Amino acid sequence: MFNLKHIYFIVFASLAGWAVFAYFTTTQIIKSQQKFANIINITGKQRMLSQKIPLIATRYYDSRDKDVKNHLIELYEVMKLDHRHIISMYTHSAATNTIYYKKPKQLKARVEHYLKLVEEFVKDEELSSLYKLDSYSFTLLPILNDAVNAFENESELKTKHLLARELFILVGTLLTLILESIFIVIPAIKRASIHEEKLNSLVKERTLELEKISVTDKLTNLYNRRKIDETLAYEIERAQRNNSSFSLIILDIDKFKDVNDTYGHKAGDYVLQEIATLLTLNVRKIDMLGRWGGEEFLIIDSESHDEKVIVFAEKIRKVIDEHVFDKVGKITCSFGVTHYREGDTDSSILMRADKALYAAKESGRNCVKEIL
Ligand code: GH3
Ligand code: MG
Ligand code: MG
Repeated sequence: MFNLKHIYFIVFASLAGWAVFAYFTTTQIIKSQQKFANIINITGKQRMLSQKIPLIATRYYDSRDKDVKNHLIELYEVMKLDHRHIISMYTHSAATNTIYYKKPKQLKARVEHYLKLVEEFVKDEELSSLYKLDSYSFTLLPILNDAVNAFENESELKTKHLLARELFILVGTLLTLILESIFIVIPAIKRASIHEEKLNSLVKERTLELEKISVTDKLTNLYNRRKIDETLAYEIERAQRNNSSFSLIILDIDKFKDVNDTYGHKAGDYVLQEIATLLTLNVRKIDMLGRWGGEEFLIIDSESHDEKVIVFAEKIRKVIDEHVFDKVGKITCSFGVTHYREGDTDSSILMRADKALYAAKESGRNCVKEIL
């Protein structure tokens, strides 16, 4: 269903989605913090100015110093500008809306009224105006306090919401990873490992098959010459190492050319196969049986190296001699037997076995001859 590319894409796309969401949320948190820090700062400043202006106005009234008046006007301008900023730039929440626009607090109207009182004093410089200004500043103070608190609460609430969203992102990301692991990644890995196991066992199977083919004779299904060579080399090495011996039996079908000539090549093949079967049925598991070439077979008897081998060869000779081959009738074989001698090589021992076989042929075939 899913291959590795799909899995990479799904995991990457889902995580990238969450990452983008997290990025925007974080940016929103920072922006919101900045906005609230600014508005809380401005409102705090308004609160401070509402108290400072009457003090400066009083100082001016007493001193009539122009610089003090200029300072008073400066403060007035700042308060006016900040007020405009709060009203026009800021979108009020339900709480600050109540404070700024609804009775009884009506902070907007009150600040504007206060600014008018400042203007009046600046214009007429009268004591009555100063009194009005001073007394009104006390009604303004608690409401400005309320506004600062309301903005602080709003900031806290907003931050809480955004932090909750961050938690949601974290949980969402983890959940996505867990679900993707359970439903996509782990099943895919399992499928891949099952596939790999199947592939490995197939490779093993094929390798064994190839190994078997490389040592098997196609016609008779017996070991081929290559395997015989290997086994012979191994047996010689073993005999040298252990100071032991082993025996070789080579057998050749008598007058096999006549079989081919009389009954055809196919019948000849059949005889070869039938003899292979007879041999397989009569040799022991520990013996090594192979087709040496043409119509010759070889048995390596790693256990016996005395007259038992002759008895064994005789037994096989008899089995073949007594067997009736379909259409072809009677077939006999000649046997050459020899044993490992110290210092033997594969060719020296094979040559002796061949000589023994030749002797069997010479003495009229269908018999066993041994060269010690
Ligand atoms: P001898 O008793 O002296 O061994 O006589 P022979 O006829 O058996 O010996 P010769 O060496 O003259 O002939 C062997 C024959 O075996 C010749 C060859 O065509 C035949 N032969 C070898 N391999 C095969 C095979 O795979 N299939 C068939 N049908 N014949 C084969
Ligand atoms: Mg021959
Ligand atoms: Mg022959």
